[in-house]
Amino acid sequence: MNIHEYQAKAVLREFGLPVSNGKAIFKAAEAEAAARELGGPLWVVKSQIHAGGRGKGKFKEPEAGEKGGVRLAKSVEEVKTFAEQMLGRTLVTVQTGEAGKQVNRLYIEEGSDIETEFYLSMLVDRETGRVAFVVSTEGGMDIEQVAHDTPEKIVTFSVDPATGIMPHHGRAVAKALRLAGPLAKEAEDLTARLYRAFVAKDMSMLEINPLIVTKDGHLKCLDAKISFDSNSLYRHPEIVQLRDTTEEDEKEIEASKYDLAYIALEGTIGCMVNGAGLAMATLDIIKLYGEEPANFLDVGGGASEEKVTAAFKIITADPNVKGILVNIFGGIMKCDVIANGVIAAVRAVGLQVPLVVRLEGTNVEKGKEIIRSSGLNVIPADDLDDAAQKIVAAVRQR
Ligand code: GDP
Ligand code: MG
Repeated sequence: MNIHEYQAKAVLREFGLPVSNGKAIFKAAEAEAAARELGGPLWVVKSQIHAGGRGKGKFKEPEAGEKGGVRLAKSVEEVKTFAEQMLGRTLVTVQTGEAGKQVNRLYIEEGSDIETEFYLSMLVDRETGRVAFVVSTEGGMDIEQVAHDTPEKIVTFSVDPATGIMPHHGRAVAKALRLAGPLAKEAEDLTARLYRAFVAKDMSMLEINPLIVTKDGHLKCLDAKISFDSNSLYRHPEIVQLRDTTEEDEKEIEASKYDLAYIALEGTIGCMVNGAGLAMATLDIIKLYGEEPANFLDVGGGASEEKVTAAFKIITADPNVKGILVNIFGGIMKCDVIANGVIAAVRAVGLQVPLVVRLEGTNVEKGKEIIRSSGLNVIPADDLDDAAQKIVAAVRQR
């Protein structure tokens, strides 16, 4: 789960990390009060969307002005103007895709005077099974580019969970950033606090880009991006509250209500499958026959008729779907339950596109009979290969 920058900074503040004072606003009318409370003389007006590259981003609407999604303001008036220009407008960055994202929240922050910009991130490294740090003097830039062009400028190390964070880790960060004296001490303190926050909140990723040295000689986290491990959210109700569903795919939210594993994709063939492995194989075979899947959907082992109906509705609600492939291997899941779910869903939402159903396993004959006697225009298939070819052909005929 991802959160906004201002929320991430509030989490960091809890752990005593250096961040600027700021106020999140939802309406342009709140901008003036926020700006006055912060005091100035410099403010930063920052678009809050779940995507990076905001500074270099561009708004779609001309009313938003020429500047990007992060703007420096030198007066309360300017803060107000920027808020009016940016709120409700669509910001396109390298991470949003062409469609961009609507800016519904702004973070107004006390402006900092920057001496140097660094890069620091932390993540769970699956290879070592440890929390790893990635540190570079090349901050404020695209870290992938730095990794490609000048990999020697990136320092990484991981922390042994048995010892936890140690003073030498902090010294490694200070050394990587070529800091000495009091700034090195600050880097050591910052490293330990970041690690504590990361572990305590079950983060999967934390990125500070840039981490800056201010003109008056202190470290500060100027940007913050945090992702949390979704599997741990049950023990962090305070984090769950930060969820902004407007940033998520509507179909994925609906699917999560029914505990369906659903991921929207770009193609045209909607898939309903049971089991993640079979779902992956189904996506592969659709691609093999030259078409693209519209989604990954695993209805799970013990899906009820209600769950199958919900899954079917989610698939048909996607305007990109030109055909549907139901591929079920009935083990724990029974084919007749799937068949009833599909029929109920088709009756409820109608069927505007071709539907291929491949059933195999427990109660397969019962399932096939239910579909046959339904009178619905369903194309039956014998195996995965046959099913994939049939749905690809059906989609191409349209
Ligand atoms: P991103 O573009 O989405 O990564 O957003 P950032 O929060 O990283 O901001 C983009 C850039 O704006 C930073 O790299 C800084 O150069 C600049 N910026 C952000 N906050 C301040 C600030 O307080 N003072 C100054 N001078 N520049 C800032
Ligand atoms: Mg940034």
